[in-house]
Amino acid sequence: MNNVYIKKQDSYILEDVVSSVREILLWGGIDKKISADTTILLKPNMLSKSSPDRAVTTHPSVVEAVIILLKEFGAKAGNITVADSSGGPQNSMILAANYKVCGFADVASRQGVNLYTKLESKTVRTDGVMVKEFELIAPAVDCDIIINLPKFKTHVMTAMSGAVKNLFGTVPGLKKAEFHMRFPDKDNFSEMIVDLCETVKTDFTIVDGIVGMEGDGPGSGIPRKFGIMLAGENPYAIDGAICSMMGFELTRPPIMNAAVKRRLMGENFDSALLCGDTEMFRQIDNFVKPQSYRVDFSDRVPRAIRWATPTVEKLLAPKPKINKSACIGCGNCRDICPQKTITITDGKAVINMKNCIRCFCCHEMCPVKAIDVKRNIFFNI
Ligand code: SF4
Ligand code: SF4
Repeated sequence: MNNVYIKKQDSYILEDVVSSVREILLWGGIDKKISADTTILLKPNMLSKSSPDRAVTTHPSVVEAVIILLKEFGAKAGNITVADSSGGPQNSMILAANYKVCGFADVASRQGVNLYTKLESKTVRTDGVMVKEFELIAPAVDCDIIINLPKFKTHVMTAMSGAVKNLFGTVPGLKKAEFHMRFPDKDNFSEMIVDLCETVKTDFTIVDGIVGMEGDGPGSGIPRKFGIMLAGENPYAIDGAICSMMGFELTRPPIMNAAVKRRLMGENFDSALLCGDTEMFRQIDNFVKPQSYRVDFSDRVPRAIRWATPTVEKLLAPKPKINKSACIGCGNCRDICPQKTITITDGKAVINMKNCIRCFCCHEMCPVKAIDVKRNIFFNI
């Protein structure tokens, strides 16, 4: 099913969210797929140890509402697992602390469901374009049903982060950095993400866009109330709807472009696929796109020298830049950097740009927004 359900939802008050999520899950026929034996993975966005008000992670009310309804449909609490693998180095204690700060630990304890903390992973063979084998967190392999619960956000590397990109969290901890090293080019990286999406194969997605993020997401953007949830079976169709709302042409975010090339979606989002509160579907006024994205460089290059565009673009590509006065020397950026090109000197992060591949993992993981995305002055003309 390629339909996308859009639901108006203004607040995170649990009983209101439950009511909206009930409508969404019944529309998706999820009640008919659940029995007491069904094992279910709920995959929120838990990018980092961030409190829900920062809008970096899926709000715990959305996760709790889904659990309440799955139990109402007959699922056993003990068969439901909330799991994500944040970026950066991981052990059970770090993961447990992340669940706590993001609000998922309290939800799990209230609802009696499991949290993925034992860090088990499994290797899965796949027939991807870029990747033939993924190591995934165990529940993503073992569960009968996967419900994907991403956040409606921008992303400095991939323009937007929705249903498809959220699945990168099924790759354990620092294994994610290995993929950034293997695929430093964002188009190849995006092809890998589509391979991953085709391997994980989610059953249903509900995007938390009640409060999402604009600007330099996914970790350091600006929270903004959008008052919606988007849902459906096809993660590409959902991301197509998000693209339209954010004002991106569908083939410009590289993950979407990879999906279009593989004919997993059409070149334009078809608004006839929308169900629910369809009047909420519109391009968001004054939406702030990531600094790294706003300009189509090729538009500014004379036709005669367009052959040189990829090289020049590379030279002028946005870079991460440490704001020394804001840096607290925590080392998160150093630990996540796939190129190991960040050191902490005199309590401040320092980037050796020679080895930087502009993956912006450091920007994602900085807890105090001390890493800016610096664009070349050319792009500001
Ligand atoms: S410095 Fe930042 S952007 Fe550059 S490779 Fe390291 S993590 Fe990626
Ligand atoms: S730049 Fe951010 S992540 Fe890196 S050490 Fe400073 S505060 Fe920590």
